[in-house]
Amino acid sequence: LTQLYAPLNFLGFVYREIKHALADMERMFDLMEQGQEVADQPDARNLKTNQASIEFEHVDFGYEDKRQILFDVSLTIPAGKTLAVVGASGAGKSTLSRLLFRFYDVTAGAIKINGTDVRNLTQTSLRQHIGIVPQDTVLFNDSILYNIAYGNPLATQDEIIQAARAASIHDFIMGLPDGYQTQVGERGLKLSGGEKQRVAIARTLLKNPPILIFDEATSALDTRTERSIQDELNQIAKDRTTLIIAHRLSTIVEADEILVLDHGKVLERGAHRELLEQRGRYAQMWALQQAGHNGEPD
Ligand code: ATP
Repeated sequence: LTQLYAPLNFLGFVYREIKHALADMERMFDLMEQGQEVADQPDARNLKTNQASIEFEHVDFGYEDKRQILFDVSLTIPAGKTLAVVGASGAGKSTLSRLLFRFYDVTAGAIKINGTDVRNLTQTSLRQHIGIVPQDTVLFNDSILYNIAYGNPLATQDEIIQAARAASIHDFIMGLPDGYQTQVGERGLKLSGGEKQRVAIARTLLKNPPILIFDEATSALDTRTERSIQDELNQIAKDRTTLIIAHRLSTIVEADEILVLDHGKVLERGAHRELLEQRGRYAQMWALQQAGHNGEPD
């Protein structure tokens, strides 16, 4: 019996590890709302680039046949530039990022990266090229080190610390009782909204993707935290092709182009100044936000 003990104990360990890993993966897929909607084409190519331009050409899309969500949306983000999308809740902003990830296929039109339709690329290679700083970052029940390294499993400890420094979370981590070994997540230390976004920024830095999606948190962080996170984001967005899903117009004044989405249609587009001069919806939202309202029309 004692001879059986060690292997059984080992099996128990393996079982717990696998269960743990599966629970983490489930949460991750939940977050990504990844359906089994799309499959790789037999002759799909691997995307391999560090300079990506993005094009949406006359995109129509609906999650269900009966309800169209996007109508004839066209947009271009040249390599290294930033496009911000604004619009009321439900206008279809996050849907654009889900389509870019190819969690779903468009019903008409096309989405292209460097001129290649995403339907002709392997999903793995496509997703390797995109980093996302989501509204709410999922933390695994593991050490903070593991949580940051998730962006790149091959990263060395030095690289992880460097990324944490760049995301301004290193000092916070060093102040924790167990430093980088501190357990976080539901069964560990809970992090604030700002700290979680910093973990996401550090993950993205380690992943080093040419395309970046920033899904701005709807719930406002305090002004100081927000400004400092904005600085870090501007740093990581530099030289990357960036799509910002914005809720606060103050954070996107510098964007190369701003798109105003209304019920799934492009209502206005241009740089901040141009849009103010048009005196349309954007100018109206800007005036409301300056006056302290959230700027989203009812
Ligand atoms: P918010 O600012 O509130 O995040 P949004 O502009 O990002 O809103 P989307 O999340 O893109 O809006 O949603 C656009 C529309 O698509 C909404 O009406 C929403 O109900 C619908 N929708 C989103 N996800 C799904 C889904 N998985 N299945 C069906 N409908 C969905």
